[in-house]
Amino acid sequence: MKITVDEVKCQSHGLCAISAPDHFELDADGKLAYQETFDEEHLDAIEDAIDSCPLQAIIMDRDAP
Ligand code: SF4
Repeated sequence: MKITVDEVKCQSHGLCAISAPDHFELDADGKLAYQETFDEEHLDAIEDAIDSCPLQAIIMDRDAP
């Protein structure tokens, strides 16, 4: 599984970083940084982050290795 963030949509509000702080964070410039891949055990947190994004900018590819 893999996630990508649409950087055109993302406004760096950071709600995803509140839901899944192990995978999303705002860097020193206030820009979103994130990990594309994650373990199954973190799926719930990632799904919470996806649901929390007001701009629906986080896309999950469940078929990605
Ligand atoms: S919640 Fe959505 S818009 Fe906000 S930083 Fe995360 S991906 Fe970007």
